Amino acid sequence: MARVYNFAAGPAMMPEPVLARVREELVDWRGHGLSVMEMPFTGPPFVDIAAAARRTLEELVGIPPGYRVLFMHGGAMAQFGLVPLNLLRGREAADYVETGYWSGRAIKEARRYCRVNVAASGGPCGFSRIPPQSEWRLDADAAYCHITANETVNGVEFHETPDIGNVPLVADMTSNFLSRPIDVARFGLIYASAQKNVGPTGLTILVLREELAGGAHPLTPNVFDYGVQAENESMYNTPATFSIYVAGLVFEWIKEQGGLVAMEVASKRKSGKLYDLIDDGGFYRCPVASEARSRVNVCFALADTSLDDRFLDEARGAGLVNLKGHKAVGGFRASLYNAMPEQGVDTLVDFMKDFAGRYG
Ligand SMILES: *Cc1c(COP(=O)(O)O)cnc(C)c1O
Repeated sequence: MARVYNFAAGPAMMPEPVLARVREELVDWRGHGLSVMEMPFTGPPFVDIAAAARRTLEELVGIPPGYRVLFMHGGAMAQFGLVPLNLLRGREAADYVETGYWSGRAIKEARRYCRVNVAASGGPCGFSRIPPQSEWRLDADAAYCHITANETVNGVEFHETPDIGNVPLVADMTSNFLSRPIDVARFGLIYASAQKNVGPTGLTILVLREELAGGAHPLTPNVFDYGVQAENESMYNTPATFSIYVAGLVFEWIKEQGGLVAMEVASKRKSGKLYDLIDDGGFYRCPVASEARSRVNVCFALADTSLDDRFLDEARGAGLVNLKGHKAVGGFRASLYNAMPEQGVDTLVDFMKDFAGRYG
């Protein structure tokens, strides 16, 4: 079967040149006579692979002095608990901004560890906008303030980094990490699981302000203690070796494409084409306010929902797969991460125009 355009939210589409490279190197990595997945993680070849991946990432993002990149396990949902365990540092409260499904999950988990102050919520408007900062009610005792930079399920994205003064800003960037330049110095911690926009699952990337490491709650497992992992170059235990290797190839690929500025330009162009079509004519609709729309997860619905199944079937027939929206919100979602070629978006737009023409 030919490759399809895969609009899944994650695990998601990978750049084809990276897959080709992995296939080429799978059994015999660069003449070493073994696969990366067979290498001891402490041996020179893998240590070099991980160091090179980290260096390329640092270069791509522009990691300033005083920040550390960590490669961890457990996905972003593990971080929902690990953020309070590591960052409360004796305090009892934290601020969370609720902008959709994933921030809701983060809040629920954080409540097991601390007093959560929901500083603002988009809930009353059905998560169709990001509450403006003028409406946030921050807790003076909060150890940190948590945001979800892109709501993968609701299609809502922060387009400005909030300014909250000296309290560390923590961002779940799982679905928009590496899709645009990041001003790292504005954050205390950025975390992202890999399987949306970076690479295979099993890897979670953290960018941590160094001074925040080392104060974890005493019951925090060592493998999940930011300070312990920072001291051990993320190799306190066996890291996700194969995922780190593939992520490193993706970082190289992004660099070849022109880096994060090029990723941002492409994501604006790709999502813009789709939103323009959705807003045109009333056959499709997007519930999200235009200034809060995600460039990477475009959520939409058919005005006539009785056509939903037909839409998915015909899309699949045209080689456009995994367009079904998350079950929490229904409708459709086209995830347009870095690896989605513009041709994929053009094919989707043409299909949607044609579908609207036939059933509208
Ligand atoms: C997918 C996703 C998660 C969950 O990630 P896991 O790796 O499955 O734990 C959390 N936050 C956001 C924003 C996501 O998109």
